[in-house]
Amino acid sequence: MSNPWDYHEDCIDSAARDMIRLGRRHRLGMPDGRRTWICRGCQVALRPSINAKVRIRRKVMYVTCLHCGRINRKGPEFKRDKND
Ligand SMILES: [Zn+2]
Repeated sequence: MSNPWDYHEDCIDSAARDMIRLGRRHRLGMPDGRRTWICRGCQVALRPSINAKVRIRRKVMYVTCLHCGRINRKGPEFKRDKND
């Protein structure tokens, strides 16, 4: 999952859903650096230029899901949003 775009689409989407499901079941957050690449709106793996737009502004990375339009942010002030 470190390079989601290298894998087959169906494979990553199911991997993404599994990660979310496991995370919820065991009350774990996503591993840092990976959660950004899974849309929490529609639960698919996000692939830059395929189904996601990536912007970086002031050290905050904005990953916009092109399926549901949800913006998944990653940056200094979003590192530990446990209640999300
Ligand atoms: Zn989405």
